Amino acid sequence: MQPQSKIVIIGSGMAGSGLALELAARQIPVTLITGETAGYYSRPLLSHAFSDQTTKDRMMLKSWKDMETAGVTVMTGTRVLSINREEKSVLWESNSSSGELPYDQLVLATGSDALIPGPWKAQKTHFSLLNSYNDLENLLPKVGEVQNSIAIVGGGLIGCEVASDLNKAGKKVTLFHGVDRLMERQLSESQSAELLAHFQFLGIDIRLNTMVKGFEPGKVLLPEGDSFSADLILVAVGFLPRTELAKQAGLETGRGIKASDFLKTSDDSIFAIGDTAEINGQIYAFVLPIRSQVKWLTDYLSGKTTEPWTPGVYPAKAKIHGLQLKW
Ligand SMILES: Cc1cc2nc3c(=O)[nH]c(=O)nc-3n(C[C@H](O)[C@H](O)[C@H](O)COP(=O)(O)OP(=O)(O)OC[C@H]3O[C@@H](n4cnc5c(N)ncnc54)[C@H](O)[C@@H]3O)c2cc1C
Repeated sequence: MQPQSKIVIIGSGMAGSGLALELAARQIPVTLITGETAGYYSRPLLSHAFSDQTTKDRMMLKSWKDMETAGVTVMTGTRVLSINREEKSVLWESNSSSGELPYDQLVLATGSDALIPGPWKAQKTHFSLLNSYNDLENLLPKVGEVQNSIAIVGGGLIGCEVASDLNKAGKKVTLFHGVDRLMERQLSESQSAELLAHFQFLGIDIRLNTMVKGFEPGKVLLPEGDSFSADLILVAVGFLPRTELAKQAGLETGRGIKASDFLKTSDDSIFAIGDTAEINGQIYAFVLPIRSQVKWLTDYLSGKTTEPWTPGVYPAKAKIHGLQLKW
């Protein structure tokens, strides 16, 4: 494959695919390189697939064929291994081939991994994560086989949404959270209390102030030598922006890839958007600001604006069945 595009985007989440489609709609040549194979899908809908069988189809926003038809050159199942900033090219590899692709402008939209705290990394085979379509495909049969209970570790947005969907699917769910209220980063105290009462009413067992110590096969290890047995353990304790490529290439990184309010990294020809980007010290890892970044960068790259990106106020809501929670 020898694409002719000058703008190269790495990553096909809502940041990368969104930008590629917007640029293509303005007849700007663009190549999208992605490790994904399934298509461009909606990550926020992942957990709904546990409670609603139609979600797996609904969450597929565009097939690769649709993206190509829209004018995007797509390289799927392809990992970018490194960035050569001097030559302005990326080194890529797929199962069947490898090569270098030149760019004039490169956009890093490499997203984030699910966070696994250091001490738990060695116990990774004892629990599951829900961060991608592949994770979902691995999890669905496991969820189907659950006879007794499912343990969720983490009572943030993703842990709570997963608990809600698994409960709706008829599973017995126990959720462990290290602090004294659910979704403490997003919700007010009264909203957390409302969510707790809702979950308890539904029969979800919520264990607050419980710092999980680690895992053994089929067991969550708790303080004071206690443990909890579960058929399936799901960990959702945060996210980690993917910064390795940027670090290797000598770009400035913090928790994410550092970018200015022009969404530019420390290299003028390389932009960062989405979960991976730390823009003026802030990471905007949710849908609305990412859409705003995509729109702004499309305008910027097509010469329609010279003003910087300014973050707005982004209302958000949790997708909890039977409860409206906005903030
Ligand atoms: C279960 C779940 C529920 C969520 N619910 C909500 C919600 O209700 N509301 C909300 O606003 N947000 C929600 N979010 C967050 C939201 O989904 C993310 O902020 C958003 O999807 C991030 O998009 P992105 O494009 O930045 O990254 P990603 O979607 O992570 O995409 C990154 C892409 O980069 C590719 N990639 C990475 N490295 C390489 C490489 N070296 N070579 C090639 N490809 C590479 C990956 O394969 C992937 O395609 C949720 C997230 C999850 C996981």
